[in-house]
Amino acid sequence: MNVPEIIERKRDGQENSPEELEALVRGVLQESIPDYQISAWLMAVLFRGMSLRETAALTKIMMHSGDVLDLGQLPGVKVDKHSTGGVGDKITIPLAPAAAACGAVIPMISGRALGHTGGTLDKLESIPGLRTDLEIPAFLRIVKEAGFAIAAAGSDLAPADAKLYQLRDVTGTVPSIPLITASILSKKYAAGVESLVLDVKSGSGAFLREPEDAQCLAQTLTSVSREMGKKARAYITSMDQPLGVAVGNALEIRESMAVLEGRGPADVAQLVEILGSALLELAGIETDSESARGKIRAAIASGQARERFLIWVAAQGGDPRVLEKEDGLARAPILREARASRTGKIAAIDVREIGYAANELGAGRRKMGDRIDPAVGFKMRVRLSDAVRAGDVLAEIHARSEDDAALAAKRIANAFRIEDDADPAPPLVLEML
Ligand code: URA
Repeated sequence: MNVPEIIERKRDGQENSPEELEALVRGVLQESIPDYQISAWLMAVLFRGMSLRETAALTKIMMHSGDVLDLGQLPGVKVDKHSTGGVGDKITIPLAPAAAACGAVIPMISGRALGHTGGTLDKLESIPGLRTDLEIPAFLRIVKEAGFAIAAAGSDLAPADAKLYQLRDVTGTVPSIPLITASILSKKYAAGVESLVLDVKSGSGAFLREPEDAQCLAQTLTSVSREMGKKARAYITSMDQPLGVAVGNALEIRESMAVLEGRGPADVAQLVEILGSALLELAGIETDSESARGKIRAAIASGQARERFLIWVAAQGGDPRVLEKEDGLARAPILREARASRTGKIAAIDVREIGYAANELGAGRRKMGDRIDPAVGFKMRVRLSDAVRAGDVLAEIHARSEDDAALAAKRIANAFRIEDDADPAPPLVLEML
């Protein structure tokens, strides 16, 4: 297979055949194609796109680049939920135990912080002892025991994605609809999931900021899933402001516990209910969304979801007692505030900037292999369209040092646009496909 020809075909806007895609993925895995050729091809895909047929072919090839789990030994329809990435997005953490308490079976493969967005695995690992690098037998045992497990894709599941992802992360080729689709679906379906709820983010904190791009991504994800014989439902949700109050790993675990105790921020509780009820519907546990939402609400109100979460924490090696204690999780030594520069209303928030500011504090990675600081992050004190006076607190900063806090305070204050008047905040759920 002539690699330059494959690249040129994509550069010129033509389709790559399944055989060509197969050769590329094989070359990635065997390291027989150099990174510069793969990177050139990724950039050509970013600019030229892919047909649905090509995207489906690439997804299947990447899915079969490693093991494909057979979850036949688990009861019921295996369901999962995936978000395309946001800031403050801790939905998975209360959602999985709530849906599992309602009878859903959720073998969940999750991700790490990426670019400006946080990662569920990094958040969970702020619980002392909790492990997310599970061998397949342990993963299955925990799903049986707790109704759900949350693990990293091991080197055996969709290994082509792991390699391509690393390259995309450093070559400016993340925001490509076909590449995101193949990346997400190859991992999820290699893990044996039959039905998938997708939370496609749109807005200033999303990888794809424009609403029409989010819509196209949602359509591509659902169409390719259908083509692969899977059921998928996509929700386009707003990432024009961080989700909830907390941004940062241990802070988000505390907020997730609050949601499981029925005292979390309204937007997080609402999204848990909506996406959780979709999981119950796709799993065939409920047939209409109102009763499914009622079931999720009841699982939280009764304390069953919280109890399920603690059982799961212990099953994955964590110490559930730390979640009961005020000071059980890491806390940052320095608390400072970012303040409003003028009086007015919050007209816009650059959520991407808030994500990068959190990374800068140590909540994410600046380069591969960086250690995450679980304690640091922000607590957002205002939301879109809120009225503020000059000097009001916009966000509380949890930092490791005074210098870090001062830098973050400046960045956060600059991320808010305050005007005399502001449009109402967009709805949380913009569309369902
Ligand atoms: N999440 C993924 O797993 N892959 C992408 O490409 C983007 C978000």
